[in-house]
Amino acid sequence: MDLRPIGRCNLTCPFCFGPRHEVPSMGAADALRIAEALREGGVQGSVISGGEPTLLPYLADLTETLSGPRAEGLPIRVVLSTNGLAPLKRMERVLPHLSWIALPLESADAKEHRELRTGVARHREKVLDLLREVRKNHRQVQVKLGTVVTRRNVSGAPRVLDLIDEDSSLPEVWKVYQMSETNYGADNADRLSLGDDEFEDVVARCESAAEERGVALRVYRNATRTGSYFFVDPDGEVVVIDEKGERRLGNFFDRLADGGFRAAELIEPAKNIDNFLGTYPDA
Ligand code: SF4
Repeated sequence: MDLRPIGRCNLTCPFCFGPRHEVPSMGAADALRIAEALREGGVQGSVISGGEPTLLPYLADLTETLSGPRAEGLPIRVVLSTNGLAPLKRMERVLPHLSWIALPLESADAKEHRELRTGVARHREKVLDLLREVRKNHRQVQVKLGTVVTRRNVSGAPRVLDLIDEDSSLPEVWKVYQMSETNYGADNADRLSLGDDEFEDVVARCESAAEERGVALRVYRNATRTGSYFFVDPDGEVVVIDEKGERRLGNFFDRLADGGFRAAELIEPAKNIDNFLGTYPDA
């Protein structure tokens, strides 16, 4: 289950498929109530994303609540999907509650990366600093590196692992995403979107690079996203993806009060589980 409690972000990536940045964030009380409901409801894994979740003042409380012990079953596997810009001091309150952190690197070419991760000039260096810090001092947190492939980084995307000098800093998983034409991605599709064949060419080069460095590669294709995701947005709406794109299904708390969620009516459970466990496998 993907909790997106914030649309706001300190970057303005032109391919962003998250909620619009001006959407008001979810309040702390609602976010923590959802976290409790997920624990009680037996959800096994949750990704916190956005927008940029490290801008939320209550993020440490949210990750602590989500990852806390449960009456039955294993704790929820909590993943933080962040752009990597938060100061280390803030991250140190969050990292102890995470199973995984998802960090972005778009290109080995500095110009390509800057064109796609817009808003902070040293973004790429900051991500690499955080990656090294997690690898060195937070070994219990596994790392997924994400690369969104657009028309602007077909050359540099397959070489992002070259940015990581030390093998000890490599991620457990590198996931390559076909750009999704949703929200800001839809606004900029004409200049950025990549066709299926061109994307597969990039994937083939990423496969070689991943194999060379001994990193597990995962691939997100737009054709496979239907039924794989169950989001809760900043306004508390449940959002799923079907053939036509994102579909809003009503308020999380209203649905919960109305008898709860039957996963098979919202998503394709096998695809949802495969997507999560394929991206964030057991340690
Ligand atoms: S893709 Fe991520 S980092 Fe970039 S604008 Fe969207 S939420 Fe922010």
